[in-house]
Amino acid sequence: MENRAFETISIRTQSEKTNHREHSVPLYLTSSFSFENAEHGSAIFNGTEQGNLYSRFSNPNTDEFIQKLCLLENYEAGVSTASGMAAVYTSLVSFLSAGDHVIGSKNSFGNTLYIFQHILPKMGVECTLVDLEDHETWQQSIKSNTKLIYLETPSNPTLKIADLSFFAKICKENNIISIVDNCFATPYLQTPSAFGIDICVHSATKYIDGQGRVLGGAILGSSELIKHCYEFLRRTGACLSPFNAWILSKSLETLAIRMERHCSNAMTIANWLKDHPLIDHVIYPFLPEMKNYDLAKKQMRLGGGLVAFEIKGDSNKAFTFLNNLKLHSLTANLGDTRSIATHPASTTHSKLDEAQQRAVGIAPNFIRLSVGLEHVDDLITDIDQSLKHTK
Ligand SMILES: *Cc1c(COP(=O)(O)O)cnc(C)c1O
Repeated sequence: MENRAFETISIRTQSEKTNHREHSVPLYLTSSFSFENAEHGSAIFNGTEQGNLYSRFSNPNTDEFIQKLCLLENYEAGVSTASGMAAVYTSLVSFLSAGDHVIGSKNSFGNTLYIFQHILPKMGVECTLVDLEDHETWQQSIKSNTKLIYLETPSNPTLKIADLSFFAKICKENNIISIVDNCFATPYLQTPSAFGIDICVHSATKYIDGQGRVLGGAILGSSELIKHCYEFLRRTGACLSPFNAWILSKSLETLAIRMERHCSNAMTIANWLKDHPLIDHVIYPFLPEMKNYDLAKKQMRLGGGLVAFEIKGDSNKAFTFLNNLKLHSLTANLGDTRSIATHPASTTHSKLDEAQQRAVGIAPNFIRLSVGLEHVDDLITDIDQSLKHTK
């Protein structure tokens, strides 16, 4: 597959055809696989022969999904998981023991922060949370027992951009594993492997499915690192179902074309919002006035499908805006064909108190838009009419 483009790989990576010579890959809804004879069963179990054994270990649909993602992200190996959070959790605990220390980004998905603050400490792992852009504190937080660092870029929901080369460098120098959640960018916009990041995790629930249907996740990296995640998953069971893998692998076929439109719609909306008198500050990685515009341009093909902004006024104004939207959905998901408006302070980040929210850039009047694939003129008309209610 060398030299083939993203679109071609995502469409033409398929598991082997069966005797029926089907054009589209079938769904392998089977929990186990039979052996040709007793010797074959024994060889597969003791690893002298490769083959499917049980769908908690492998399945043609999950294998195809992961093979495709590995090619798109340029990693050697990967595992698929039941959800994005299963991928996040597995990528951490597969490498950690009591007494280890980890450094995580303060600007992370709410449930990921919960793992750092409440789950890992119970297991005897010490966690330090640092602002994504505060390079000095990241460096100063490294200790002799620091095992891994974890971050997302662009971050949720304030769309901060991490300098991936910086993180790869400090990890290599200190023998630390670097993990990046690439959910917002998708492999079409950004490949952490190109900057030297060891492990990439995905919530496939978002743009990879892209139509709000199934949960799923993935962890990608070197064979050496991924074998630890595989062992953990195979023993503990948070693996991806064949049905969800079948959906997700087919969804990857259209990822490139969908991301192009998500990004062009989002760019148009960000530019329109920027000059609006009822809006305070618009965040979109590819607006030239953003602090990390050059870095975003270096790391990402396009600016992504998320736009964030503050409505002039308090949380009441934010609620008025949400309640008057006619086309946008009110839901906490993102990366769907349908455009979505979210109020992080009262939903995804409501576990943080107001001071903690402000510390990570989430004001009471902060809104996150996941720009969908409807016509951009209709989306702007909807935002415009709803903003008028906040006057
Ligand atoms: C949604 C999300 C997750 C979790 O994914 P699920 O599939 O919902 O478990 C992790 N990271 C980021 C950045 C997300 O947006």
